[in-house]
Amino acid sequence: MLRPILIHPDPRLKKLCDPVAEVTDEIRRLADDMLETMYDAPGVGLAAPQVGVTKRMLVMDCIKDGTPEPMVLINPEITWGSEDLNVYEEGCLSIPDQYAEVKRPALVSVRWTGLDGKADERTFEGLWATCVQHEIDHLNGKLFIDYLGPLKRQMITRKMEKLKRERARSVDV
Ligand code: ZN
Repeated sequence: MLRPILIHPDPRLKKLCDPVAEVTDEIRRLADDMLETMYDAPGVGLAAPQVGVTKRMLVMDCIKDGTPEPMVLINPEITWGSEDLNVYEEGCLSIPDQYAEVKRPALVSVRWTGLDGKADERTFEGLWATCVQHEIDHLNGKLFIDYLGPLKRQMITRKMEKLKRERARSVDV
């Protein structure tokens, strides 16, 4: 089932999300819905707060051409980041059509719980590393525009407020 994606600014995108206590049917359903919503958007990553669920969970698939590699990370934690940094032009499904360069560690190791309830750990690189850091930021109420200067951030926020007003109006007609 597709879930509506929240658009910034929204208080639910600024919250520190709660850990998932147990992998229940509800969590499995949420993971399915999040993957479906991410592929439909389309995007390479989606965090639970973006669909209004303030839980520590994210989905991603950074394979653009080729066999899909859907991943579900529950309670993810960055255990190591490289000193080497990488710059990517990032976007966000909650901030449509806005892109900006963000500098982050080029490699990160992440530990998480899988849908099977088992612990997993992997070192990510390239787009995967950028994506997993961007999504984990969401779980801490942080957006990629928080890395930008205040003027750029305000400009983007104003554009999003305008977009939301326009969308709200078009629903009324
Ligand atoms: Zn995002």
